Amino acid sequence: DAKFRGPAAYAFFDESLRTAATRSVELGSALRGAVARGEMAVHYQPIVSLRTHDVLVYEALVRWKHRGRWVGPDEFIPVAEATNMISEIGTWVLDTALGDLVRLRVAGAPGISMSVNLSVLQLRDERLPDVVADLLASHGLDGSVLGLEVTESALIADPVVANRVLARLAEQDIVLVLDDFGMGYSSLGRLRDLPITVIKIDKSFIDRVPVDDASVSIVSAIEAMATALTMRTVAEGVETKEQERIVTELGCTYAQGYLYGRPAPVETFLP
Ligand code: C2E
Ligand code: MG
Ligand code: MG
Ligand code: MG
Repeated sequence: DAKFRGPAAYAFFDESLRTAATRSVELGSALRGAVARGEMAVHYQPIVSLRTHDVLVYEALVRWKHRGRWVGPDEFIPVAEATNMISEIGTWVLDTALGDLVRLRVAGAPGISMSVNLSVLQLRDERLPDVVADLLASHGLDGSVLGLEVTESALIADPVVANRVLARLAEQDIVLVLDDFGMGYSSLGRLRDLPITVIKIDKSFIDRVPVDDASVSIVSAIEAMATALTMRTVAEGVETKEQERIVTELGCTYAQGYLYGRPAPVETFLP
C-alpha cells in the first residue's frame, strides 16, 4: 500500500538502522576488556546418543553479562569479529571449556567430550592449531575429547587456509563438526575432501519435521549423504518426543535440544 511508503516509512527505516549501528558501536567498546573484567561465561548444553540416550558431549555456548543483562552470542560474536576481539574471546572460551571438561570427567563422567564453536576468523588464523594444541596440553587432555564446530560459510570464505587449518586440527585427533548444516552451500564433493566427521542438521529442518514432509525428506537425504561419507549426524533443536521419534527413525546418531536440557552453567551438571 503506497500510503505506508511515504517519507514517514523511510524515516522509520533510517532510525532503526541508526539504532542498530549505534548499538554495535556501543557493544564494541564495552566488549573491549570484557574477558579481563570477568564478564564472560560459558554455559553447556548436553548432546545425547539417540540409541542409549546417554549424554556423550557438552556444547560450550558463550554468554556475556553486559550492564547486568545477558547478551547472547548471536548479538555480540559478529561485533567481536568486526572489532578484532574474536581471537581473545575464542581462546578464553576454549580454555574455560577444557577446564570445565576436566571437572566433568573427574566428577564421574570420564567418557564425556566437549564441543566448541569456532568463528570464521579463527578458522582463517594459521596459529589456531598450535593454540589448541597448547591448551589441550595445559589441561592434560587428548585431542580426541574435543570437537570443534565450523559453519559452511567459514569453509567457503577462504578454502585454502581453512583446509590447511582443519587438516592440522584433524592430525591432533580433534573431531571436526559441520554446524547448522543445510543452510549454506557445501557441495558433496567438498565435504568428501574435508576431515569433517560429524554433521549437525540445522534446527530449522528439525522444527518442521513433524508437520512438513519436505523437511522429513531433507533430513532423510542428509542422513543418506552422511552414511555414504561415513559421517555421524546430530539433530539440532529437538524439543519434543515426536521430533525425537522421527529423527531416530531417520537414522540420526545424536540429538541436542531443550528436550534433553537447556544451556546451563557447569555446576548444573556436576554432582
Ligand atoms: P549453534 O552453535 O547452532 O548453537 C545452538 C544454539 O541453539 C544455541 O543458542 C542454543 O541455546 C540453541 N538451542 C539449542 N537447543 C535448542 C532448542 O531445543 N530450542 C531452541 N529454541 N534453541 C535451542 P545460543 O547459545 O544463543 O548460540 C547461538 C549461536 O552463537 C550458536 O549457534 C553459535 O553459532 C554461536 N556461538 C555460541 N557460542 C560461541 C562461541 O564460543 N564462539 C563462537 N564463535 N560462536 C558461538
Ligand atoms: Mg554449535
Ligand atoms: Mg548449530
Ligand atoms: Mg543452528
